[in-house]
Amino acid sequence: MALHVRGVLLPDDEVRDVWLDGDRVTFDPVPGAETVADSGFVLPGLVDAHCHLGIARGATPVTSLDQARTLARTDRDAGVLALRDAGSPYPYPELDDEPDLPRLARAGRHVAPPKRYLRDIGLEVDAAEVTAAVTAQAAAGNGWVKLVGDWIDRGVGDLAPAWDADTMAAAVAAAHAAGVRAAVHTFSESAVEIMVRAGVDSVEHGTGLSPDLIDLMARQGTALVPTMINIRTFGGIAAAARPKFPGYADHMLALRDRFPEVVRAAHEAGVPIYVGTDAGGGIDHGLAAEEMLLLHEQAGMPAVDVLAAASWRARQWLGFPGLVEGGLADLVVYPEDPRRDLRVVRTPSRIVLRGRVVR
Ligand SMILES: [Zn+2]
Repeated sequence: MALHVRGVLLPDDEVRDVWLDGDRVTFDPVPGAETVADSGFVLPGLVDAHCHLGIARGATPVTSLDQARTLARTDRDAGVLALRDAGSPYPYPELDDEPDLPRLARAGRHVAPPKRYLRDIGLEVDAAEVTAAVTAQAAAGNGWVKLVGDWIDRGVGDLAPAWDADTMAAAVAAAHAAGVRAAVHTFSESAVEIMVRAGVDSVEHGTGLSPDLIDLMARQGTALVPTMINIRTFGGIAAAARPKFPGYADHMLALRDRFPEVVRAAHEAGVPIYVGTDAGGGIDHGLAAEEMLLLHEQAGMPAVDVLAAASWRARQWLGFPGLVEGGLADLVVYPEDPRRDLRVVRTPSRIVLRGRVVR
């Protein structure tokens, strides 16, 4: 049955009536539609632009489609109705169009350097194999590849780029040649410089960004998905590593401590920023609201910009149209104005996915 919603539509900030006819939005009345919200603030469904449905708690690969479904439903029940999977060892293309799951933008497996990244998670390849691996993972995903741009190099005792700069640039070029976008994990200053200059499409974390690189990202339109929830775990990572790798531990703490200012500067420079939790592994699913609040409270992003980063702009970036004529029938309703007090994003009063009421 068609659904009807009335409320203040964001970002337009107008009271409107919206009909959801199957999986399509229309502003033309649909006779007999059931009214499922008649007040409140209505947004296109939220997006978690960096999470992992194929990585379970403890950073082990998911082993069944049902396990991935359960993680996706946890996000959905928090209002996340589209997500970008930033790399998964367990493939699940079967879930792309499942009616009760969020819409999926997926990378294949992480392409990672040998014997450095999380065990069993990445596809670990030498420099000579990187472009072939990127091409293969582009085919395994549905629009993205994920590169691990740096990680601890235990021989060096600190973060170091995954491969040489030419190889990392060739990886981006291989993704683009395959018709997909490339996302790169970086913590360090050196790797993010290589990858931004190589024209990567999105920087994940990006703790090592400098003012010059932020300006370059703004000019290029390179996206940043800060995952501030993840960066808050650096204290634990540093403490565990300190006995063997004190330089790395100090580096991680310094990156953590400067990060809110990095995100603030990126936002002020006009870098497109999106909400991503990095759920999967060490971080629970369902925390998009908490990441939104961190961007607001720690990085100083205005509430309306955080909402754009979690909703309409993120959907546009990933190719999931929002509350426009003919758009996709995903929405969340909040009882109060989230621009006035963002904390209301923790408690949506209505969630509709693909034209069907979730709650
Ligand atoms: Zn991640």
